[in-house]
Amino acid sequence: MSRTVYVNGEYVPEAEAKVSVFDRAFLMADGVYEVTSVLGGRLIDFDGHAARLERSLGELGMGMPMSRDELLTIHRELVVRNDLTDGMIYLQVTRGAPGDRDFAFPPEGTPQTVVLFTQSKPGLADSPLAKQGIRVISIPDVRWGRRDIKTVQLLYPSMGKMMAKKAGADDAWMVEDGAVTEGTSNNAYIVKDGTIVTRNLGTEILHGITRAAVLRFAREAQMKVEERAFTIDEAKAADEAFITSASMFVMPVVEIDGDAVGSGAPGPVATRLREIYLEESRKVAV
Ligand code: PLP
Repeated sequence: MSRTVYVNGEYVPEAEAKVSVFDRAFLMADGVYEVTSVLGGRLIDFDGHAARLERSLGELGMGMPMSRDELLTIHRELVVRNDLTDGMIYLQVTRGAPGDRDFAFPPEGTPQTVVLFTQSKPGLADSPLAKQGIRVISIPDVRWGRRDIKTVQLLYPSMGKMMAKKAGADDAWMVEDGAVTEGTSNNAYIVKDGTIVTRNLGTEILHGITRAAVLRFAREAQMKVEERAFTIDEAKAADEAFITSASMFVMPVVEIDGDAVGSGAPGPVATRLREIYLEESRKVAV
């Protein structure tokens, strides 16, 4: 079935969804994106993603192309038009297409490009992978320094996934100055003696929307949380490891660089956090 895609104010069949070759995101990676999960036809943490979109745009000197309410309307319209039950909505906003290539930003008033499309993933929350856990490798983090901005510069994360695939693993954790920053498209955690440890917020990592929710639920459940850097050796010696992202929710990590983490099977903390996250997020989904 052909998808209906939103492009600059119009809902069009995917084959007709086009942007200019002069678009700043195509030429300069000058754009930001968000991915919001849909479960049972409803959006998970839309407000969090809209707030981060506004922040990412602001950090790059751009404003929101429309109000949050209008964005919500488009998300919902795409769910309906594409009969989406479980999956994701991808949104991208760029600095627009000024009609030529130039390093200088386009003149004030150049319309931003706004694209949204759906990705159907039936049974997204029931992934068998969650019962099995994933395997990661470690790779150097050579990305730019403003990883808190969710830009479309995804070449290195994409290469990282390919390095993982080549090594027979599922994903890569990136390491800088001896410490884990995050996964290629997710935040990284370990659990030691009941304490959940994850990298503190800064410009070194993306401020995950799932991370914020999971840490809130963990604290509400009286679990101990430490937001600090940790090493790969510490992760290998941990009782458990896991990742979080909008489309993976909470996903156990059972192997790092070929070494089993804990028992080599998904641990109780990650498993419980996944249940709590899915249950609580569904309750307030819009
Ligand atoms: N870190 C990186 C580098 C990411 O690309 C992502 C998601 O795409 C995340 C973390 C997780 O963020 P969220 O929970 O908002 O999906």
